[in-house]
Amino acid sequence: MTVRTRFAPSPTGFMHIGNLRTGLYAYLFARRNKGTFILRIEDTDQERKVEGAVEMVYRTLKTAGIQHDEGPDKDGGYGPYVQTERMGLYKEYAEKLVELGGAYYCFCDKARLEGLKDENGVHTYDKHCRNLSDEEVKRRLAAGEPYVIRQKVPEGVVSEYEDMVFGKISVDSADIEDGILLKSDGLPTYNFANVVDDHLMGITHVIRGTEYLSSTPKYNLIYDAFGWERPCYMHLPPIMKDATRKLSKRFGDANFEDFISKGYLPEAVVNYIALLGWCPKDNREKMTMEEMTEAFDIDGISHSSSIFDEAKMRWLNGEYLKAMSQDEFYAVALPWIEKAIEGKDYDKRELALLMQTRVDILSEIPEKLAFLNNFGEYDLNMYVHQKMKVDKAVALKAVKLAYDSLAALDDWSEEAIKECVKQGAEAGGMKSGQVMFSMRVALTGEAVTPGGAIEMAIVLGKEESLRRLAFSAQLLEKAQ
Ligand code: GLU
Repeated sequence: MTVRTRFAPSPTGFMHIGNLRTGLYAYLFARRNKGTFILRIEDTDQERKVEGAVEMVYRTLKTAGIQHDEGPDKDGGYGPYVQTERMGLYKEYAEKLVELGGAYYCFCDKARLEGLKDENGVHTYDKHCRNLSDEEVKRRLAAGEPYVIRQKVPEGVVSEYEDMVFGKISVDSADIEDGILLKSDGLPTYNFANVVDDHLMGITHVIRGTEYLSSTPKYNLIYDAFGWERPCYMHLPPIMKDATRKLSKRFGDANFEDFISKGYLPEAVVNYIALLGWCPKDNREKMTMEEMTEAFDIDGISHSSSIFDEAKMRWLNGEYLKAMSQDEFYAVALPWIEKAIEGKDYDKRELALLMQTRVDILSEIPEKLAFLNNFGEYDLNMYVHQKMKVDKAVALKAVKLAYDSLAALDDWSEEAIKECVKQGAEAGGMKSGQVMFSMRVALTGEAVTPGGAIEMAIVLGKEESLRRLAFSAQLLEKAQ
């Protein structure tokens, strides 16, 4: 058997990481088994359709590195892959199911259904039209009466299946309503469309969220009524934003594309979400897509929900950044560095070197480099460091000394600057730590900086460093 899995998003908004994880697992399972991964757009709910959401699905999958083998843009002979383009099919199959005895026409109007509601406003259909005679049905159809087609759930059976994650799931048919398969407008409900599509597209493994776990016995009865082979099922527990609430696109939670624009690497996000609900046998955390494909196994899928922890994802992203070559990091950091320097003439490569080990996500770069632009009046109390025995007078001496030593230096390299400041300190009778500390504050105007004095001097360059030292000396002089 060739494994065929599918990802069937509804274009009703952005894609949060819970949806994407479903797609990722279906993809990994297909790849692991040398099977085929299919993208199907489930857009029958036209009322909830959001403009641009289909394009977003393509973009997200592409960015995430999840490549479908078949889909609306890649015909594999099982199309169309967009539900609204399959409309004729559903009607045809619903009518066929009526002939096979698995469904029936229902002419009940709104008013009648309203009357079936209980005190909570919920109605369970009372099977009123289940046993209409063929003649009556024919006559009413010919008269153009509006109708729906309902599932004829067999009575007195228990519908059972073996979920690959949750084990045996069984539902008594008495608890299954004769639900609508084809609506009065001729469009299918999800309940019907997913069965017809999965069958016609040859899906062998249905991988989706646990919200469908207990409806699946009902879907299986449709497969049975058609005489079709049921697929295997793998239902995935939800991803929560905290102990009680699921991630929800309605509340704007955890949108994949938002993370990318915040400066997360797609591969780090994908790696992190793979671990939300699955753990490889060797408990590895950092994995490429290839490694995940190799390691993906059903035994590692968790039965319980997982909590989305952005701090953990951030940490993992930082690990990805640190593991990059300098060139790779430069390439991804460049837009953020350009944003940080606001068109000024700093050495972008040096800034990238400084940042690579100091940020977890790329959007931290402009914050960390804000000192490049924000230099000006500042709080001179920053110079006071009791442990190092630095006060404003000592700082003034140190800053002047740094200026004088560095002004004569031509080689603006780490080693040379270090040696120069050290010698200057010795000659001036100061501790090199005192000079370094004062110099760092003088160069940045900040108490906390992304690097030490020498790194700051390097990213600023000689001219700017001297300008800042001179300016700081003036400020300190005034404050004596
Ligand atoms: N369109 C459904 C959803 O977005 C997919 C359900 C399924 O995979 O069967 O929830």
